[in-house]
Amino acid sequence: MKAAILALLLMLPAAAQAADSATNPQFTAARAALNNALNRQPPPRRARNVILFIGDGMGINSVTAGRILAGQTRGRDGASYQLSFETLPYSGLSKTYSADKLVTDSSNGISAIMTGVKTINAATGVDDSVTGKDCPSALKGRIPTLAEQAARAGLATGVVTTSGITDATPAGAYGHTTFRGWRADADLPPEAPAAGCIDLARQLVEAPEAIRLDVAFGGDLNNFLPSGTGEGRRKDGLDLTATWLGYDHARLVRDAAGLAALDTRTPGPVLGLFAGGDLPSAADRPDTVPGLAAMTATAIDLLSQDPDGYVLLVESAAIDKWHHQNNAYRALTEVDELSKAVQVAMERTDPRDTLIIVTADHSHGLVLTAGSGRDEPVLGLVRYHGELQTDGNGRPRTTLSYATGPSGPKEGTASAIPDQATVLAKDYRQPALTYMTSAQHAGEDVPVYARGPDSDLLTGTFESNYIYQVMAHALDLDARLQDPAVRLDSGDQEHTDGRQ
Ligand SMILES: [Zn+2]
Repeated sequence: MKAAILALLLMLPAAAQAADSATNPQFTAARAALNNALNRQPPPRRARNVILFIGDGMGINSVTAGRILAGQTRGRDGASYQLSFETLPYSGLSKTYSADKLVTDSSNGISAIMTGVKTINAATGVDDSVTGKDCPSALKGRIPTLAEQAARAGLATGVVTTSGITDATPAGAYGHTTFRGWRADADLPPEAPAAGCIDLARQLVEAPEAIRLDVAFGGDLNNFLPSGTGEGRRKDGLDLTATWLGYDHARLVRDAAGLAALDTRTPGPVLGLFAGGDLPSAADRPDTVPGLAAMTATAIDLLSQDPDGYVLLVESAAIDKWHHQNNAYRALTEVDELSKAVQVAMERTDPRDTLIIVTADHSHGLVLTAGSGRDEPVLGLVRYHGELQTDGNGRPRTTLSYATGPSGPKEGTASAIPDQATVLAKDYRQPALTYMTSAQHAGEDVPVYARGPDSDLLTGTFESNYIYQVMAHALDLDARLQDPAVRLDSGDQEHTDGRQ
């Protein structure tokens, strides 16, 4: 009897066919990732070049939902798909609050990263002593940006964005103001120019040569042209494109063909203004307007002609702009656009000499809620094996939703019951809990991804303005700016008060 039981027990494992985790594809993929990490060599110290990518409004929620959409768009499993920047070896979390608010705007968001000091919301290139919409305090609180310091140290500098070039994030490279809305002279209150402040378009173009950008690609042509010329909105009669073209070997491009035709080996500054205002989103962009990856590629080709190295700021702006509208399709499509632009930078640079950082200025109130199967479209209704998973009232619900925004319930209006075809349409706005004409930014920490020299310093949780310290250290800016060969003239001051 005993022998019979023993024989039965011995047979059990074979009969139950226990699983072998070691041959499970998930297990082996994670083991390969571990081996990669174990074989990783610490990155070198000091970089020749720094490329900073900003996904405007790209919180971790946007990265997760964006990767799922990017994978599903390619007919792949979305959840396990990897965006280009998710393959970078080091990552950390950045605390983005401003000097005066729990949740930052884009202006302080980039200013903290580019100057090393958090300021108040809507201000840029100034310290935390400033007060809003106040020219004298802007002049007093002005501090240099990383791009200006790098230019002064002899590096080439550039900015690429899908927004207007005078919008908050690109202005973080060259702008100094207490109010981000002062983009053309028509935006300034009369007391501001009287006190010595100039608009952001003039700050970009009229900056002293020692700190002026070598490459600037984006939109906002209207802010550079006098009113009466097309859509020009300058009241001072200045044609800032003509001012730019007055510089040695300067070039101006206006469309994708012009960008593609640029000889990137020819020296000289290049201004690219591809729309009157913001560039159209990837989902709506005509062939005449270049995409973020094409602009990034050309900017790198131009800047890398400088043997001293370069600093480049690249922004995917429309993630934020479409989140503000609760339109997850377009916002998340722009996450994919950022991924493509980072891929271009990874292919065009050497991790031994170029520090690449990908982060966000702040997050947005997007939520990915549970219930859907892996094969269900992330933009769709919550379904499992095709079955609707309803809310507590028995109504269909969407996988993605927002905390606030224009699709929130307005006083006296009943919210529509969504169907799958409606929610998968490009223009659909995912539901929001609270009605606001524009969705509000969110305040949780944002991810930072990095590779290249000093990228290992971007691990853990840190303040947004710490990112400046890492970039400045990588470029050895302190030592380079103390070099007697670097002319420490009064160029910055001339730039602010308009005395050229
Ligand atoms: Zn925003």
